[in-house]
Order: sequence, then C-alpha cells, then structure tokens
Amino acid sequence: MDFVTPLLAIGGRADAEDGAALRAAGVDTLLSLAPLARPRDVGVQLSVAVADRVALPDAAIREVVDFLAQRTAAGHRVLMHCEMGISRSPALAACFLHECAGLTLDEAFARVGSARAIAAPDVALLASIRRYYAARLATDRAADRDSDPPFAVQFADLAGNENPFGPSPQAVQAITQALAGLHRYPDLGADALREALAQRLDLPASHIVIGNGACELIDLTLRRCAAGGGEVLIPDPAFPAYRSAARRAGAHVIPVPLTGADYRVEAFLERLTPATRLVVVASPHNPTGTLMSPSDWARLRDALPEGAWLLLDEAYRDYAGAQELIDACADVRRGARVIVLRSLSKVEGLAGLRVGYGFAPAVMAQELAALCPQYHVGTLAQVAAVAALADERHRADSVAANAREREALMAGLARLGVDFIPSAANFVLLRGPRDALARLAARAVAVKCMARYGLPGHIRVSVGLPPENARFLAALGELIREDHECREAIPA
Ligand SMILES: *Cc1c(COP(=O)(O)O)cnc(C)c1O
Repeated sequence: MDFVTPLLAIGGRADAEDGAALRAAGVDTLLSLAPLARPRDVGVQLSVAVADRVALPDAAIREVVDFLAQRTAAGHRVLMHCEMGISRSPALAACFLHECAGLTLDEAFARVGSARAIAAPDVALLASIRRYYAARLATDRAADRDSDPPFAVQFADLAGNENPFGPSPQAVQAITQALAGLHRYPDLGADALREALAQRLDLPASHIVIGNGACELIDLTLRRCAAGGGEVLIPDPAFPAYRSAARRAGAHVIPVPLTGADYRVEAFLERLTPATRLVVVASPHNPTGTLMSPSDWARLRDALPEGAWLLLDEAYRDYAGAQELIDACADVRRGARVIVLRSLSKVEGLAGLRVGYGFAPAVMAQELAALCPQYHVGTLAQVAAVAALADERHRADSVAANAREREALMAGLARLGVDFIPSAANFVLLRGPRDALARLAARAVAVKCMARYGLPGHIRVSVGLPPENARFLAALGELIREDHECREAIPA
C-alpha cells in the first residue's frame, strides 16, 4: 500500500484483504468502490457503489471526502482500495487533499501520482471532478461574493466534435411538446422525417433511410454490402466505427492509407478488385478534416467493380461551407451505387438523441431499412430531427461561428509552431506535446486521443466556444513552454 498522507493510503485488493498487513500498518478503516469482504481487523468500512466505471457522481465525491475528513480528523488510518486499472480511488484521494489540505487540484493529483504511479486518470473521470468543484465554486461565490476563489475551473470538453452552442432550440421545443405523447409507439416508418428530408434533398422519400445515429447506418451498410468476408476498403486513419462495423459484419478490411492527410484516389483505385464489395469515403474526413475532391470522387465512382457500393459519410458536410463539395445526391438520383450518410449529431447538436439518415437508390434504401429492428428511432428523436432540420438560423449561426473559431484556433496553433492539418470541419488534428491528453486534462481541457485512430502522438481538438478554444491554446502553450524549459535544463 502507498501512503498519500500519514493517515491515508491507497492499495489493491491484496492489501485490502490482508488483515495482518493492515494491522501492521495501523489501518483500521477501509474505503472501497467495489464490493469487498471486510477483514476482521478493519473497524469501519465505507463501500460506495458507483455505477459508472469511469466518472464519479457528485454525491460520491461528497460522501467520500466527508468520510475521509471525519476519519482522519479523529486520527484513524484509512486504506482506499483501488482495483487494477481504475483510478477513481486515487482521484478521490486527490479530492480529499484538495478540500482538506489546501492543495490545488493539480497539486493534489501530482501528490497522489507520486505516491502511487497510477495510469493517467480517464478524461471523463477528471471531467466529473472538475465539474463538481466548478459547481461548488459557483455556489460558494454566490454565498460569499467577497471571498477570493481558490481556483477558477471551467472544463472545456473538446473531444467529441459536438456543437458547443447546444441543440437547436426548436428541437428542444419539439421534444417538450412531444413528451405528453410518449405512451404511444413512434411512427414506424419515420414518415414525417423522411418526407422533410425528401424535400430538402429533392429525392423521393423511398430513397431515404433513418438510423439511430449515422453509426447505426454504418453498421447496416457493412452488414448489407460486405457481410461474411466481403472486401471493404476503409481509409486509414479513419473514424473507428467503420472498422468495428466491419468486424461485426465479418467483412474483410483493406486499409487505404491517406497520403499525409489527404485522400489519394489512386490508392483506392489500386486496391479495387472484383471481390470489392464496399468502399468507404468520408468528406470532410475524420480525423483529418480534409475533403475528397468531386473529380476524385467521380473517378472512384466510375471505377467501381460490378456489385460494389460506395459509402460517403458526410457527418461534417455543413461545416465545409462554400468549398467545392461532392454532389452525391445527383449520383443517387441517377441510380449510381452510392450510399450517403449524414448525422444530426454535429451541426444540429443532437448527439445525445441518436438520429441520422442515409440516402441511396430506392432498392438499397429499402434493403437497409429492412435490416433495422422495429422502432429503432424513438418519437423524440424523430420530432427533434424534423424541427432541427427546419431551423436554418441555428445551423447558419453554428456554421458561421465554427468557421470563425476554426480560423482563430488554426492561427493560434500556427503561432505556437504546432504541426496541424488545415480543417474543413469542426475539429483540428495536430501533433501534440508528450502526454498531451493527461496534461491538458490537468488544465481542465479534454481532447480526443488519437491512439485508437492509429496516430500516436497526435490529438484531435474540437472547435468549441471562444473561451474554450482560448483555454485550450493557453494550456497547449504552457505545455510547449514546459517541455522547452525541461529540454534546456538537461545539459547536452
Ligand atoms: C460523428 C460522426 C458520425 C456521426 O455519428 P452519429 O452516430 O450520427 O452520432 C458519423 N461519421 C463520422 C465520421 C463522425 O465523426
């Protein structure tokens, strides 16, 4: 077991269940977040059941810190039990140090980390703690406006490429109005939503399929087109949902490397074979934010082997603004073997609701729809989607603000001398300093880890609200300066 303070230790299950060792260390109190048999020598045990495997609810932080404060004030020695790989207990020890020993959260985490080298605390875990103290700070401030805040924390969540302005207010209103009807099943065919989309896209409604997020439609497309060993060409790096859907469908993945950050259409053409069943393209691409040109798209479409389909993921299309975009709608109208996916999780700000759509030649759209379980898209998602699509104001404001802030963010990165890829979307891919994720999290900024995308050393930062982007740039600047000073301090 490792002591964080003379009265507070952190240990694994073996420590927590070893009565003799606990007695030798003078530990008489045990705190655990997982069920644990209480050794005979332990007088008091607090077990806090926390459903979330990562984040901590406010009540748990409150309860644990109060418990630790009481026990240690009375001179008892406490062991916090910590399961392998889960760093909630050490994080709670840091909360205790922050509240009761006057350390800043960063200092508290550093202290705990030096007593017990823990894996970098999960971003969501840190987020829950920062949010908790930010809320407390706000309450404390309201209670006593004269006192100086001990620290100012506001967590900038720039990991999910969501709309930082929130959902369309009209969507929220539509949801409120639909609440009283929730005892009824949703419209099975999502007819109103498909009709609204048909008008926007100038396509017959028979060409449109609704999904529980675009991710569900990615799954259905892989199942329909490449199940059971069919070859699918997937850009590399790319959104991980394509590969996971391919795995579930039993498809055979052929990675297509990007050149730098760009699609090189020849890399796709070279890999087409008579066995190719599906080719995946995203424009703007995630995680690079780059576009495929309409001429490259046309070459690829025209080179498709017999029976193969082309999937175009346009989750970020609105953000690309005036740049030259692929007109896949025209392809679908002409009956080309093209499936287009879009999402309401991004500009429309409905990521938590799960609704997206696809369009394709009618036979394909019907086949994809036939693969869906019944009632896979709920009433609230359907009515909110109709309202959000009609809310031109929210979309235009969101897109304009994103474009402004994206420019400011990229200009800031350029000033810091950071390698980044100019983006047409609502995020930017960049090469991060060492341990960027954890060090940014310690500064209350969450960004996306690119390890799962196969890009170690990189991070993807979403374009947030102006103060969030400023906070990110300031934090990144600090890391770069720290590393610079550190390098200078090491004699050559
Ligand atoms: C965010 C995102 C989506 C949208 O997924 P939903 O399931 O609609 O939330 C689709 N494709 C890519 C590339 C994305 O980044």
